[in-house]
Amino acid sequence: MKELLTAADPADPEVRIEWGMARAEVARRAAAIAAAEQFAAIAEILAEAREHPEIFLGQALHHVPTDAADFAERSAVADLAVRLQLSESVVRNQGAQAMALRTRTPRVWQAFRDGEIPLANAGVVAEVVLTLPQVPGLSEAFDAAVVDGARRMTTPRLRERVRVIRERLHPETLAERNGRAREQRRVWLEADRDGMCWLSALLPAESGQRAMARLDAVALSLAAAPAETRTLAQLRADIAADLLTGDGTGGGIGGAEAGAARAAGAGAVGVTVAVTVPVLSLLGVSDAPATLEGYGPIDAETARRLTARAPSFQRILTHPVTGTVLDIDRSSYRVPADLKRWAELRDQRCQFAGCGRRARDCDLDHVTAWADGGVTGIGNLVHLCRHHHRLKHESRWSSQRAPDGAIHWTSPTGEVHLGNPPPF
Ligand SMILES: [Zn+2]
Repeated sequence: MKELLTAADPADPEVRIEWGMARAEVARRAAAIAAAEQFAAIAEILAEAREHPEIFLGQALHHVPTDAADFAERSAVADLAVRLQLSESVVRNQGAQAMALRTRTPRVWQAFRDGEIPLANAGVVAEVVLTLPQVPGLSEAFDAAVVDGARRMTTPRLRERVRVIRERLHPETLAERNGRAREQRRVWLEADRDGMCWLSALLPAESGQRAMARLDAVALSLAAAPAETRTLAQLRADIAADLLTGDGTGGGIGGAEAGAARAAGAGAVGVTVAVTVPVLSLLGVSDAPATLEGYGPIDAETARRLTARAPSFQRILTHPVTGTVLDIDRSSYRVPADLKRWAELRDQRCQFAGCGRRARDCDLDHVTAWADGGVTGIGNLVHLCRHHHRLKHESRWSSQRAPDGAIHWTSPTGEVHLGNPPPF
């Protein structure tokens, strides 16, 4: 707090508070200016990459099967992502938002550059303008209608306002748009703290409403039982998990509902998820956390329970000190633990710096190419998702394995980054 006291009377709290308010406002403005500068720089680099693909592709320029400009842009996105510690989708998104704001809503863009519009509000405008068709006059009308709100409103109010303005200006009917929006439906999983995760789904409104109504109805009927101590929110979560896993371990649903879930075939899907357990935790001697494949650490008790009775979990034992794999339990998995599976368990994810794609959805790549004397052994195999596999072979990105096993990536512009370390 010392820097405040030089400029204000330390004995007068009103002066101190007024000075603090001014500091916060100045910082907010500076943050918006800095964010706009970052967005602008990203957009400019991506445009440069498209114009000069040879810088990002090198010799590969001559044998890239797809459009070279597209591929150079992808390579540049990966370069920016590792430098800025952002995911590639965030970099791509910031570049696209900068382009959209600059070319389609120049008033909002200028105010963002000047620090008058905070980053969150500029993001709301950009997200929406990217969903508007490019018809004459539309962007201009949108820009004029939202710029004042973006300067003055809080982000949630602006979001409501912008949605209404979009609805008013959109040249297509809601029915036409809904037809396309449905194609974006999906389910995704996101890890959270303390052994929990978010399972989210983007659904057509009527499906989401019906699903929630069903969860409500079953939760209410279970809550009526005298011995039931779970809250309605807990019951809804347990029922959803039971229906989707089809195994009823959460104890959420009674016979009829569980039967319906099984009849739907959910329980018949042979999915195997690996649980990596330090050997002493399995014996109950230690409580060192285990690792659930594709998720991260889970507590030792949950790991013991899963590996003891659930056939859809494959148990991998690790050395208590070195963490190296001691044994892969073959009895619970149809395919023997071959090299591919071993590498999958070691890598867990695509080994490009910062990539989150699960190893099981990746290609297995030779770090040192077969043609260059590389062997097909665990030490020379690494998981790369299709996207990063192609970047390695078709642009100037390259990788080397260090003596300690870590993968070092060198970007087209010469930056060296460490690949993903394994989670256990
Ligand atoms: Zn990847």
